[in-house]
Amino acid sequence: MSMGRQLFELQEVDLEIDAKREALSEVMGRLGQSEVLDQARLSLAGDAERLVELERSQREQEREVEDMRAKATASEEKLYGGTVKNPKELASLQEQVVNLQRKMRERDDKTLDIMAEVDTSQQKVSLKRGEVAKIEEDWRAEQASLSQQQAELGAALATLEQKGKDLAGKLDASSLELYQALRRKRQGRAVAKVEQGMCQGCRIALPMSELQRARLGQELVQCSSCERILYVS
Ligand SMILES: [Zn+2]
Repeated sequence: MSMGRQLFELQEVDLEIDAKREALSEVMGRLGQSEVLDQARLSLAGDAERLVELERSQREQEREVEDMRAKATASEEKLYGGTVKNPKELASLQEQVVNLQRKMRERDDKTLDIMAEVDTSQQKVSLKRGEVAKIEEDWRAEQASLSQQQAELGAALATLEQKGKDLAGKLDASSLELYQALRRKRQGRAVAKVEQGMCQGCRIALPMSELQRARLGQELVQCSSCERILYVS
């Protein structure tokens, strides 16, 4: 096998390693925390907190109304119970009852407003809970798939790296050095195929002598235009 061909095979493996490493780093970047999920959870927590506040103030309103109702009932019992005879006292009791009833009506209106707010808030929280659950579910599924991809890419890379080592082991140090230097200079492509007398790396027609030397495959021949190592299949 010519050295050009050996280097070309090594390059195929190295290019695959490059692609797999890039894919792996993309996968690793997507593993872990999700900003969308964090935001959704935070927003839900805020709404849930507001709901708790509203429910507490609803209970407070209801308790106050209950107190007033108990007071009004007590005053009414006194008023109609027959134990109080003094007209002045009776008039005062009457006034108390009327006042309490007016206050209770006002409070009832307020309670109704809060109840409506509680209702709206409950719907909002329940909707957001559903949304967060959905985002969580999607995120978990994505993470599971990413972990699997990570494992698969890791295994594929290990195999490819071993294959690359084996191929490189058959080459001499100076050829390998040239190959590595050209790979760095030419976006990972140090070896170019020759097709129809043209270097496929730079698409330039090769001089006849260069072409012949490359065809013989006894030495490493570089393209005089792009410097890539030529390989004639
Ligand atoms: Zn070239």
